Amino acid sequence: MPSPAGQLVARALERPRRLLLTALLLGVPLAAALAAGWASSLAIDDLKDGARAQLALYNANLRAELERHAAVPLALAQDAEVSALLANPTPAAVDRLNRKLQDIARALDALALYVMDAKGTTVAASNWNSATSFVGENFSYRPYFRMAMDQGEGHHFALGTTSLVPGYYTANRVVAENRTVGAVVLKLGFDRLERAWAPSQEKLLVTDRDGVAFITNVSSWRYHALPRRIPISLPIVPEGTSEGLDVLPWAFGGASDRIALEGKDGQRRYLLTSIAMPGGDWTLHSLTSLDPVTAHAWVAGLLAAAAVAMAALAAYAVALRRVALVERITLQEESRAELERRVAAATADLRAAENELTQAAKLAALGQMSAGIAHEINQPLAAMRSFADNAVVLLERGRMDAVRDNLTEIAELTDRMASITRQLKGFARRASGTLGPVSVHSAVAQALALLEAKLRREDIAVEVDLPDLPVRVVAEDVRLQQVLVNLIGNAADAMRGCPVRRLRIGLVAAEGEALLSVADTGSGIAEADLSRLFVPFFTTKEAGEGLGLGLSISHGIVEDFGGSLTAANRTGEPGHGAIFTLRLKTTEQTL
Ligand code: ADP
Repeated sequence: MPSPAGQLVARALERPRRLLLTALLLGVPLAAALAAGWASSLAIDDLKDGARAQLALYNANLRAELERHAAVPLALAQDAEVSALLANPTPAAVDRLNRKLQDIARALDALALYVMDAKGTTVAASNWNSATSFVGENFSYRPYFRMAMDQGEGHHFALGTTSLVPGYYTANRVVAENRTVGAVVLKLGFDRLERAWAPSQEKLLVTDRDGVAFITNVSSWRYHALPRRIPISLPIVPEGTSEGLDVLPWAFGGASDRIALEGKDGQRRYLLTSIAMPGGDWTLHSLTSLDPVTAHAWVAGLLAAAAVAMAALAAYAVALRRVALVERITLQEESRAELERRVAAATADLRAAENELTQAAKLAALGQMSAGIAHEINQPLAAMRSFADNAVVLLERGRMDAVRDNLTEIAELTDRMASITRQLKGFARRASGTLGPVSVHSAVAQALALLEAKLRREDIAVEVDLPDLPVRVVAEDVRLQQVLVNLIGNAADAMRGCPVRRLRIGLVAAEGEALLSVADTGSGIAEADLSRLFVPFFTTKEAGEGLGLGLSISHGIVEDFGGSLTAANRTGEPGHGAIFTLRLKTTEQTL
């Protein structure tokens, strides 16, 4: 199961994650589509404007090309040689004019330059000596001829009937003596124009009234007709006399001006722009590639997608940081709680250990005490036994005085035993746990009484130096005795085998404090041991003789009293005995 912090983080991250996912799955494609749409509509508008401007230029260019030499037939129509020839077409004059027209046409790079009489028959022509010579041909049915005859000037685009080469015809009538006698016609081809348009980016074409392309920089489109159904309205609607002709391979995408063309490298899309040439029935069309629009749309779409994705990720990163912070704080709190829990557990363990130790020390003390008590009671018991036996014998002999003495001895021994058990009762009393005024004098006296046998056995001189007035300290009598028994017992142990064996108990009371000292003339304490005396189980005694608990328990007891227990060597260095000092609070009441 995840930790509470883990659950919190998972919960806190749920919302940002959902938002991030939504932004990435919906926001990114949506932004990309919107941006691409917006960019492509802007780019299309630009492209349309550009295409229209470009088309106006091509239109001007076309018109300039067509009118390039419009003045030539006009000038020739007024030429005396031409009107003379029309009045009298002698072979010599015809020949002369043929050559003249040939020279001019070559210089103009025109397809043909010729003179027709009033009936429409060609009298002289620049192509007089070619297989498709116009000389003798009648073109009276041609619109440009009729227009020139009627209005003075005629223009017409047409496929040459003889040459089958398309061209633009400009005709001017020849007037002599107020009579129309004929016309001069110039036919220009579109090679030059198509060559000029060839390198342009746009695909260009000019369609005639019937919707047939006759000038174009895409040679395969020449003489192809516009598709029948065009989804946009053209400036000039084709009249529909283009049956039998191939149709331009344009695929319109729905009701729009976009055209798809199949190329070598797949399909490509174009924008169709058309304008009518003023004064004529021609339409100029351009097809501009839509590639830049697509590129713009892509770039804008990708940029928008990247921007939205980055914004979403940045927002997510911020959320992550916030969550990380929350996680850290939660973890800190968790680890603090864990630490507190461990400290509490360790404290409880320590308490339990301390209780166990106290228990063990009590048992050890009990053992010691039992041995002492057994020893103390066995002696008077044995004495009582022999006094009693003696008394029986003395009674039989009638020595009543001696019997009385024996009985008195027995009574005294009984008193001594009673005093021992009285002290034991005092020790056996459970520590009440409540602190109160305890007389130091009586505590010392009781402790010494308890250890009297041991001190006597070890031949130890006891010196008690207490003030005359009793001193009362804040303590618990049984436990204070316990401490003193321990200190005195240790002193006796330390002096075993020493030449001088003197125990001194001193007390100084002043300013609310009592300093109770237990000093001996034993071996003293090694420097290294001074710091560990009060550590539980520290002992220098043989196994079975000491548990090393006495001082640590005593230390704890004295601290419970609000006092302290310290140890030192009497002269400041080992070898001259040790001194233990109990610092206790007095009850300020001397009795
Ligand atoms: P134990 O008496 O069972 O060893 P204590 O805690 O009472 O346990 O004493 C610890 C140790 O302190 C003793 O083993 C002894 O080395 C040292 N010690 C205590 N009292 C004295 C003393 N009066 N003189 C020298 N060493 C002492």
